[in-house]
Amino acid sequence: MIEIRNVTLEYDTPNGKVLAVDDASFAAADAEFVCLVGPSGCGKTTLLNCLSGLDAIDAGEIEIEGVPLAGMSDRARTDYRARRMGFVFQFYNLMPVLSSVENVELPLLIARVHAREARRRAVEALEMVGLERWADHLPDELSGGQRQRVTIARALVNDPAIVWADEPTGDLDSENAAEITDLMRRLNVERGLSFVIVTHDIGVGRKTDRIVRMLDGEVVEQELLEVGNGRAGHTGGDRHAADAARRGGRRLPEPDRAGAA
Ligand code: ADP
Repeated sequence: MIEIRNVTLEYDTPNGKVLAVDDASFAAADAEFVCLVGPSGCGKTTLLNCLSGLDAIDAGEIEIEGVPLAGMSDRARTDYRARRMGFVFQFYNLMPVLSSVENVELPLLIARVHAREARRRAVEALEMVGLERWADHLPDELSGGQRQRVTIARALVNDPAIVWADEPTGDLDSENAAEITDLMRRLNVERGLSFVIVTHDIGVGRKTDRIVRMLDGEVVEQELLEVGNGRAGHTGGDRHAADAARRGGRRLPEPDRAGAA
């Protein structure tokens, strides 16, 4: 489902080059909940942006659902992202003058879905995150946890295969952080939706299937969490990756396994 090999990205800055992602490799199966962890500045956000096609890489390969991102034209990549991917940001990125339901339906209207159909799907997405009663409220009238539920609904409204989330709980207190993590987990298990999140909170990481640890731009370790954490554990799939993860480090699952679970 997600496979990256030897991905490198360097930023040019006035003070010289910064190697933000350094020869990073890992793979994850279908419908996994993956989290990227590591100290601030180690390259998590940059790697997430490479994976989701926001940033162009300097070297390496990225395949999402078996599709090589780098081989696509800009237009095809944008279209693919709009159809198959959802995005959640730490600070919500909601339009302040739009209500919850209007924020959620916006990507559909931009994609020229008929207004009535867009509204129906937006309401349905708000129901999925338990926020239907707040459909007509503005972001200002919502708590941080509720705002993040709106952004998750917005990410779901296209019925994507993968949701990318950069520090989705970073602006929340611990109770709301746990609720949002549990919500993402439920959507992952019930809907078979893949999540790849960046977090500095290892408590959040412990609720996922796979922890990918980064240090100085490198993927230094992977841990597959098998106890009680939903799909990877329950299906028993991707065992090769589990073995590799236990050995630590960079070995990838065989391609047939990677996409099989
Ligand atoms: P993390 O998400 O782990 O905190 P980042 O991916 O944001 O790390 O950053 C990795 C490295 O790349 C850091 O050294 C950071 O300063 C640098 N960096 C990130 N974005 C840019 C940018 N747009 N231009 C130049 N350097 C950047």
